[in-house]
Amino acid sequence: MAKSSNMSADLIIIGAGASGLMAASQASKKKRVILLDSSDTPGKKLLLTGGGRCNVSNDSSLEEYLENIPRGGNFLRSSFSQFFHEDLRKFFHPTLSLMNEGRRLYPVSQKAEDVLRFFLSRLQDTQIHLNTKVTSLSKRDGKWQVKTTRGVFLADKVIVASGGKSLPKTGSDGSMFSILSKIGVDMVTPEPTLVSMFSNTPLKTLSGLTLPDVTLHADHLSHRGSLLFTHKGLSGPVVINMSSLLPRTFPLTLSIDFLPDMSEDDVQHILFQSKKSLSSQAQLLVPDRLAKCLFPESDDKHQWNKKRRRLAVLRLKAYEAQISSFAGFESAIVTRGGVALPQIHPSSLEHKTLKGLYFAGECLDVDALSGGYNLQIAWSTGFVSGQTKSIPRKKRHDRSHVAR
Ligand SMILES: Cc1cc2nc3c(=O)[nH]c(=O)nc-3n(C[C@H](O)[C@H](O)[C@H](O)COP(=O)(O)OP(=O)(O)OC[C@H]3O[C@@H](n4cnc5c(N)ncnc54)[C@H](O)[C@@H]3O)c2cc1C
Repeated sequence: MAKSSNMSADLIIIGAGASGLMAASQASKKKRVILLDSSDTPGKKLLLTGGGRCNVSNDSSLEEYLENIPRGGNFLRSSFSQFFHEDLRKFFHPTLSLMNEGRRLYPVSQKAEDVLRFFLSRLQDTQIHLNTKVTSLSKRDGKWQVKTTRGVFLADKVIVASGGKSLPKTGSDGSMFSILSKIGVDMVTPEPTLVSMFSNTPLKTLSGLTLPDVTLHADHLSHRGSLLFTHKGLSGPVVINMSSLLPRTFPLTLSIDFLPDMSEDDVQHILFQSKKSLSSQAQLLVPDRLAKCLFPESDDKHQWNKKRRRLAVLRLKAYEAQISSFAGFESAIVTRGGVALPQIHPSSLEHKTLKGLYFAGECLDVDALSGGYNLQIAWSTGFVSGQTKSIPRKKRHDRSHVAR
């Protein structure tokens, strides 16, 4: 066990998630580093990423990255220029090889635990204190004083890598945000994003049905991908990504195109070309459950006038789903909001006036769509904040240990 009071080091990192682990792996090459985390294991959220397979990054271009980062993209340019997905590949090589699934990158083993193991093996010289929650931060006599549930820690430099508020059971509970506000760090109100959507009138009979390729339209935006019906509304990658882009004014109408590659005329032709019911004809185009739900009527469709025929087509080409709210932090993939960017130097991630205080990862007011971008943000900002030029060199620890 580590001593639990007045421990000092060159650098204290708050949070052993993706960004904190990367920062520690950089800094511990030259400095005495203490890594603190309130959880009982490091990388708790990392282990859940990509359904346990860990979509570590995305190998698209910088411009495509910026298109997939609704908030904070420009701020991140400097971090990406210092450490991007090619650098991540080299960083993991040869211990951990990556493979592509489209542009998404995963470890070849498809195991998030291998990513965590990789970092822990590089942190042999780092003191990792688990079950150690930071409760306050202050500066005394030029040193940062970090009070925790297990004593006081002192250092010249502190990196806050405490994540956002999403999925608080992983330890990312937003507790650092009020601590930071108290010392004068400006915050943008945190909100859950990359979330499922709820409806007051969910299509409960379709609960569990996945459609691999639909287009959603709302508020002049369109997004294409896989959709999942749930007992409370809608989910799946296309819905989750849309939640990040849409304004939060409810009720909200989503228009779903179940057949994005077919024209309205082609759909109408198939629906009305035979004497069979609309539901039977629609089953040629979409799964049976959806066809039955969208076309319950049994009257003779050949009596239908032009307008009614078009409305039938629109049930497949522009189905209107009413959204009453979005899911909250308890199931959100990411947090938007957090440490406001104007007060942070983009090239070092140091606070402009609170010298020696750095930030990395999701605690910053940056967030991206799904696809490996959020973890790349954590790796890039962890790398940048973990550079050690600005802190004086001291004697390294002679032994490493993890205190639980
Ligand atoms: C289910 C799920 C799946 C995801 N899958 C992917 C994916 O496949 N690809 C992708 O790119 N992104 C994915 N994400 C998003 C990605 O996991 C996060 O963006 C990323 O983990 C953020 O890293 P971080 O280091 O900033 O924060 P976190 O990983 O949240 O780590 C913060 C750490 O700080 C600690 N902490 C917080 N407050 C305190 C305190 N007061 N004292 C001490 N310690 C504290 C926490 O215990 C935590 O360990 C997923 C998210 C979720 C929830």
